[in-house]
Amino acid sequence: MKSHVKAVVIGGGVVGCSVLYHLARAGWTDIMLIERSELTSGSSWHAAGGFHTLNGDPNVAKLQAYTVRLYKELEEVSGQSCSLHLTGGVMLADTPERMDFLRLAHAKGRYLGMDTELITPSEAKAMFPLMDESHFVGAMWDPVEGHLDPSGTTIAYSKAARKLGAEIVLRNRVTELTQQVDGTWNVVTEQGTVKAEHVVNCGGLWAREVGRMVGVELPVLAMEHMYLLTEPIPEVEAFNRDTGREIIGALDFKGEIYTRQERNGMLLGTYEKACKPWSPVNTPWNFGHELLPPDIDRIAPSLEVGFRHFPGIEKAGIKQIINGPFTFAPDGNPLVGPVQGLTNFWVACGVMAGFSQGGGVGLALSNWMVNGDPGFDVWGMDVARFGEWAGLRYTNAKVRENYSRRFSIRFPNEELPAARPAQTTPLYDVMVAQNAVMGDSWGLETPLWFAPKGTEPRDKVSFHRSNDFEHVGNEVRAVRERVGVTEIANFAKYEVAGPGAEDFLNRLMTNRMPKKGRIVLTPMLNEFGKLIGDFTIAKTGDEKFMIWGSSAAQKYHMRWFEKHQPKDGTVRIHRFDQTLVGLSIAGPKSQALLAKLVDEDVSSKAFRFMDFREMAVGGAPCMVNRITYTGDLGYEIWMQPAYQRLVYSAIKQAGEEFGLVDFGMRALLSMRLEKNFPTWFRELRPIYGPFEGSMDRFIKMEKNDFVGRAAAAKELEAGPKLRRVSLVVDALDADVMGDEPIWAKVGSDDYGTVEKPHGYGAPRFDESGTPVRGSAAAQGASAVRGIKDGDWSVVGWVTSGGYAHYVGKSMAQGYVPAALAENESAGLFEVEILGHRRPARINIEPLFDPAGEKMRG
Ligand SMILES: Cc1cc2nc3c(=O)[nH]c(=O)nc-3n(C[C@H](O)[C@H](O)[C@H](O)COP(=O)(O)OP(=O)(O)OC[C@H]3O[C@@H](n4cnc5c(N)ncnc54)[C@H](O)[C@@H]3O)c2cc1C
Repeated sequence: MKSHVKAVVIGGGVVGCSVLYHLARAGWTDIMLIERSELTSGSSWHAAGGFHTLNGDPNVAKLQAYTVRLYKELEEVSGQSCSLHLTGGVMLADTPERMDFLRLAHAKGRYLGMDTELITPSEAKAMFPLMDESHFVGAMWDPVEGHLDPSGTTIAYSKAARKLGAEIVLRNRVTELTQQVDGTWNVVTEQGTVKAEHVVNCGGLWAREVGRMVGVELPVLAMEHMYLLTEPIPEVEAFNRDTGREIIGALDFKGEIYTRQERNGMLLGTYEKACKPWSPVNTPWNFGHELLPPDIDRIAPSLEVGFRHFPGIEKAGIKQIINGPFTFAPDGNPLVGPVQGLTNFWVACGVMAGFSQGGGVGLALSNWMVNGDPGFDVWGMDVARFGEWAGLRYTNAKVRENYSRRFSIRFPNEELPAARPAQTTPLYDVMVAQNAVMGDSWGLETPLWFAPKGTEPRDKVSFHRSNDFEHVGNEVRAVRERVGVTEIANFAKYEVAGPGAEDFLNRLMTNRMPKKGRIVLTPMLNEFGKLIGDFTIAKTGDEKFMIWGSSAAQKYHMRWFEKHQPKDGTVRIHRFDQTLVGLSIAGPKSQALLAKLVDEDVSSKAFRFMDFREMAVGGAPCMVNRITYTGDLGYEIWMQPAYQRLVYSAIKQAGEEFGLVDFGMRALLSMRLEKNFPTWFRELRPIYGPFEGSMDRFIKMEKNDFVGRAAAAKELEAGPKLRRVSLVVDALDADVMGDEPIWAKVGSDDYGTVEKPHGYGAPRFDESGTPVRGSAAAQGASAVRGIKDGDWSVVGWVTSGGYAHYVGKSMAQGYVPAALAENESAGLFEVEILGHRRPARINIEPLFDPAGEKMRG
């Protein structure tokens, strides 16, 4: 065993081996994987080995597609077979809602390079003869699904890594991790200590224990999971004989079942409602290659449905039931990346689908370690997406919720109840008493909308406009015509102070820093010139700045700030979290309302648009920004939590004469649409350049050499390929949700290839029985897909949208090729909502207050 290496990877499951291979492939060959026992000694060895590309997050789906594509390369490099069976698979819908869900997934796939196809139950039965099609209304076919040998695949990664120079040390537990003053790690193992620049936690079932070695409680929990293997089934053998093909995989949402052929029988696994965590607090170190006792009663309800839906399987005897544990993060996606607050400590754990995701996780993490950037938009997997509130109990509740809902529909307006409330502001009970429908905003309870008195404050979950529509509309109109108040505690807030503060911010941000008492809006870029932040910054003192940003990105942004913070102590950074809360008042009467609450001149001359001032509001010391996300005349008022009730009741009292209303986040988001304001993590993400994101006016190329400037200059010189646009959509009773394809009538192949997607009666298998992928998909997920239908092509995608209540229009934002972005003609665009292509038109000037006169007051 070497005594010094560049990186130590802890854990020889599929994920650790993939990380090792990808690091070696990227050129870091002075690396070592340390495994407590033999390779695959955690959950990897007893996996069912299924893989697929579909994921609710399109960016995670892309990495899953990469994983599947990688297996051929892996077999070639390692000389080890993965026993790949690329069979294709169907997802079966038993209700119209589930069919809507599949339509959405299919539409997303259009720009992701996926060749899914919506088919009838009888078409599904032709490929999966064991089903009774009368239980289903439709299905989605995905040619990129299949199964493999989990152990063989893990070994293949390890062999490929070894060939490139990586070392693997088996039967050697890592017992301690300590960081030295020079930043290097002492990796203490049963066989001695290894010094490493970087440590990667791929501990799988023991990831929590490895995290605890460095004082971090990672939000992962193992769940028991069962699948059964049947005796041989004559129908399966007959199908194989007659068609020369294997039976495809099938996913039955109703039964929470996945099933596929295994030898000449079937394998059937469940995500049962009565799910069971395994080792909720500590994972025993002596757990190894053993299985857990099966508990057939727990999965009986799923099996009952499954046997009804798949009578061909019911007839077969059960040969074996496998029950094994594997880990989940609270939202079911992996935890990947550097841990905020530590140096060179990386994680790749909570990977619940190691054979769909392991390759993508390895690629993203190795890019991140070697190049400083994952190279993809990995927010959906970033370990920074969970805050301190995601402790053991939170994780336990959320993982159980997620597991039991794995195959349930998540509606766009659906708030999930587990582990809530986690954090509340002092106004929580006041909001609840006012019939607020509350939502979870990065662990904080936040009012979404206010239901009328006497009605139940609850969303009717739907893909269509729902019971909040009328009431959110009323809140919007009251703000636009009079004045409203809302909680904004769910923004991120930081203070950056010290003699180096201004230089530091000028180096990180694309806009010039404001003068004292003024505010600027500014994006932040990474070295590759991609958008990694969007902030409001006020200069609050000679060497002091307040920063407001996206709540969900607090750890993500702190990690970045800390990475760039000078080591000489000249810059201090503080994240307030909920030690600073806020209220926003907005609308034409908001100035008159504020004037009643303060003892100073807040007229538009004395307190201008984009001014910052500390003042007492209702008697409480506050910071006030003259700006709001409603795009109306308005203010953001920030105070310590102890003052929030005082300020709120003062606003309510003083507001009575102006007809003040409470409004929630939904109204706020509706109002930003008619102002064409983007949101962080929807419109603005690390896959877009600042000019693509149409943030031009906040990018001051001439000011100084900020991070990402050189790359941004290249983007500017070449001209952005894409542009963010606002669209008015002629929607029916459903507005866009995000990720819908944008079609354009461009009449030629200017914007990509013009092949028809797979489907439309094309054969689904080639002569060797391999599922056929459409030629568009074969090119991978390019930024602009070339799917074409007559004169229409998919040219872009929607990032978010909804109903803009004041202007009375359904609106969307999204990305289209720059050449089309200024064309406001009607009849040029369509947006696909729930399978219906609806006419859409680009809208360059905001529909509400285009000149910003109201906002300026
Ligand atoms: C019944 C079942 C069916 C499944 N079916 C599928 C499926 O069809 N498709 C799919 O994609 N996934 C499936 N999975 C999930 C899949 O098994 C996991 O996603 C995958 O195994 C995760 O791999 P890992 O490398 O993260 O963790 P693990 O496999 O748990 O590996 C972690 C490794 O780290 C080692 N380790 C931990 N701590 C230390 C230490 N301190 N020092 C040294 N070594 C250490 C352990 O010994 C272990 O070998 C299934 C899981 C189960 C249980």
